[in-house]
Amino acid sequence: MKLTEQLLAAEEKLKELLDDVQNLKMQVYAMEEQNESLRRKLYQRKDTGEGFDNLVRLYEESFHVCPAHFGSYRSAGEDCLFCLSFLKRAGDGGQSHG
Ligand SMILES: [Zn+2]
Repeated sequence: MKLTEQLLAAEEKLKELLDDVQNLKMQVYAMEEQNESLRRKLYQRKDTGEGFDNLVRLYEESFHVCPAHFGSYRSAGEDCLFCLSFLKRAGDGGQSHG
């Protein structure tokens, strides 16, 4: 293979990679947007008590609810101390459950 042919092939591969990166970037952007709006929704509704229930549900569905890792996946069966103390603090906000 000539050097120019090799270069052209490499250029093609780079273009494909760039396309992949572009797609990933859009996906991450969409996820960040979604994460941000979820976060806003949950924190806004916290003082109604409804938000707290949502947080508990999210945590039970294996997602972090602590500000540091909010929305990221939590390994099953592994408790996060930040989440627990966050939920405890949020739950103490005058709302009595059960
Ligand atoms: Zn956490």
